[in-house]
Amino acid sequence: MPDSGPPRLPAPLPQEEILRLQPRPGGPVVPCPLVWRAPARARRVSLRIDPVAGAVVVTLPPGVGRRAGLALLRRHAGWVAARLAALAPPLRLAPGAAVPLGGVPHAILHSPGAPAAALVEGGAIHVGGPASTLPGHVLALLRDEAGRRIRPAIRRHAATLGVVPRAVRLKDTRSRWGSCAPDGTLAFSWRIVMAPAWVMDHVVAHEVAHLRELNHSPRFWALLDAISPGREAAQAWLREKGPGLLRVGRG
Ligand SMILES: [Zn+2]
Repeated sequence: MPDSGPPRLPAPLPQEEILRLQPRPGGPVVPCPLVWRAPARARRVSLRIDPVAGAVVVTLPPGVGRRAGLALLRRHAGWVAARLAALAPPLRLAPGAAVPLGGVPHAILHSPGAPAAALVEGGAIHVGGPASTLPGHVLALLRDEAGRRIRPAIRRHAATLGVVPRAVRLKDTRSRWGSCAPDGTLAFSWRIVMAPAWVMDHVVAHEVAHLRELNHSPRFWALLDAISPGREAAQAWLREKGPGLLRVGRG
């Protein structure tokens, strides 16, 4: 490629499309949801799977057209198809669906005549109001439950370690279950409330331990293991089942 002259600008990228991918010649054609990204700081053409969107994300550096992205995608078609197939199916929030809370499935029961809200009772999630508002009420309930369950766990671990977080925030993050900022602010994905209580507790302990050790040094791991044994089991659970929590309320 000559490096003289102005770079050719790529045609505007469609944001999302469904590509028909054929991993093996003569093999089955699989639909591949595709999202294009072209951030100014990208250095190379790359592929990754977005477990939330259930799509492959193709990133193009400035001046590179989509043909290069499609070529990379076709070269890795087998990998992409396998990763997409392995994604947990989206869980639609609808009457009869079972949403885990503390790792225990709770069926969604809808009573259109009841007040427009969601509440947990008798191992089920009861939702009132019109069907169109049901998903919003269930998501709001999950967020509230997350706060209700995460805050006492923070207080318990913080008291053990003699630390106090500056603030606590709940978010809907894609890649991290929790974080600890240098100013002492803790943040958690509210989706962690769907995991078994011991997994959620371990995620909380991890971030609270960062209030003493803002690093992943041997000292940090020793501190965490002292207040929350079972690190490997929690990590294994999150690796295996965590992506499924990201799919609740999609589709
Ligand atoms: Zn950490």
